[in-house]
Amino acid sequence: MGHAVMTHTQNQPTTHLANLSTTTQNTFTQFMEQADNAGTNDEYRTAMTCAALTAGIPLPTGGEIALCACPNCWDCDQIFNANHPDAHPFGESDGYNLGRIQCPTCTDRHYATDEQ
Ligand SMILES: [Zn+2]
Ligand SMILES: [Zn+2]
Repeated sequence: MGHAVMTHTQNQPTTHLANLSTTTQNTFTQFMEQADNAGTNDEYRTAMTCAALTAGIPLPTGGEIALCACPNCWDCDQIFNANHPDAHPFGESDGYNLGRIQCPTCTDRHYATDEQ
């Protein structure tokens, strides 16, 4: 996943999974799984776009959003721009499209190491 250098001037749209209704959470999870298992770039982009729409946030410029996978606090459910300059990818991606990424808040509070 490219880590493009971005300016901090833009307001990064985020939301929390818990802000969504149960039905919407399920739909969101399905789209994220679809993105994770997408065989083509088109499929991936479409699934990401649908996931962002479902979460109710605009798709970031990089076209990717992520659900916080922080190993240090099990209850973080922030949905954020996967290419946010302050987000922190860590660990293995398990061979799928999506890596594990900490949200900027978690990166700030308790940076995960790759030894997790
Ligand atoms: Zn987090
Ligand atoms: Zn955390």
